[in-house]
Amino acid sequence: MRKKTIGDVEVNGKRVFVRVDFNVPFDEAGQITDDTRIRSALPTIQKLIEGGARVIVASHLGRPKGKPVDELRLKPVADRLAELLGSTVISADDCVGPKAEEAVAALRDGDVLLLENLRFHAEEEKNDPSFAEQLASLADIFVNDAFGTAHRAHASTEGITHHLPSVAGLLMEKELQSLGELLTAPSRPFACVFGGAKVSDKVGMILNMLQRVDVVLVGGGLAATFLKARGLEVGESLVEDDMLEEARTIMAESERSSVPVILPLDVLVAREVKRGARMRVVQATSVPAGWGIADIGPRTIEHFFGKLESCKTIMWNGPMGVYEVPQFSLGTRCLINYVAATDAKSVIGGGSSVDAVQEMGLADIVTHVSTGGGATLELLEKGTLPGVEALNDS
Ligand code: ADP
Ligand code: MG
Repeated sequence: MRKKTIGDVEVNGKRVFVRVDFNVPFDEAGQITDDTRIRSALPTIQKLIEGGARVIVASHLGRPKGKPVDELRLKPVADRLAELLGSTVISADDCVGPKAEEAVAALRDGDVLLLENLRFHAEEEKNDPSFAEQLASLADIFVNDAFGTAHRAHASTEGITHHLPSVAGLLMEKELQSLGELLTAPSRPFACVFGGAKVSDKVGMILNMLQRVDVVLVGGGLAATFLKARGLEVGESLVEDDMLEEARTIMAESERSSVPVILPLDVLVAREVKRGARMRVVQATSVPAGWGIADIGPRTIEHFFGKLESCKTIMWNGPMGVYEVPQFSLGTRCLINYVAATDAKSVIGGGSSVDAVQEMGLADIVTHVSTGGGATLELLEKGTLPGVEALNDS
């Protein structure tokens, strides 16, 4: 997975097309509620400005389904980017065609232009070759810094690389380094902690990581499917019945490779998964009928800590319980605290998991918080991503 990066190319005076992930959330008033994704791309953009490049930034935003949607224009993002950079950001009304071409032609070295939402054209997600060629015609060099979109082969992440020298941006480089190390050369012992809602999202990743780790800990909604696959009653817990076979495959693989997959010893069960609901702690082997698992229990938390104690690398994905409801958030918060406090190399990935770490204000203490969501999980499953494969090897 060794790929060329912006350090490997001469950008001075060059038109550089930078694919970023500025798919930020907005509130009803049209204000950006979280600009983490914009901030994450700043190092790359700044480095290109300093290098004297003509910086052409491009992103998607939301799901406009192939046509212009006013609420999904990137102008507010351009304004926030300008604020963060402390310099002007020019906006173009389109990402291809005469409007984009004119805006690019007017650029001087060190200028920054943000093209309009790539997904206003259906050809973007279809990876249409002539659309990719049009995007490429705007620039001399392609930089991909959109790690969160790298699991999709779209015109601006894959197609464009057929026409331009293509390298990784600094955010992409950091993601590939941190996650690549988990796959190839983790310090041992190495533990993976998996939780979250669905086994179906995670089977591939769990099976792949099982071959690379020393221990796997399972909590969250996933655990109920595993417990049921072991023949236990799980009451009203969230279970994917069509994943019981996959859960058994994972446990068989664990047996074969002697890498333990550890399930909760006790769980917090509730009558309903909502604020103020009645709840109690029970053994995982005796979930009462009419109750559902909403979090891991205190003995499990301690047991998990014990397993993590000697680890030099910890990868965590997926909340240990329904952490959005405060009374079911203890397992997740304890785990995050532990991961942040340990000296081990700690990597956290996944949309909800990252939200939870950020909410606790601990994102800076963890070794690496992966910005990828689906891309992170797919990289840990397959070892590479289409948008990464497409970049030039170093
Ligand atoms: P990530 O985005 O970090 O990969 P997921 O998307 O897989 O995580 O799962 C996050 C969701 O899992 C959260 O909304 C959380 O409420 C839910 N969840 C965790 N534990 C349980 C559980 N025991 N029962 C139902 N849902 C759960
Ligand atoms: Mg998620």
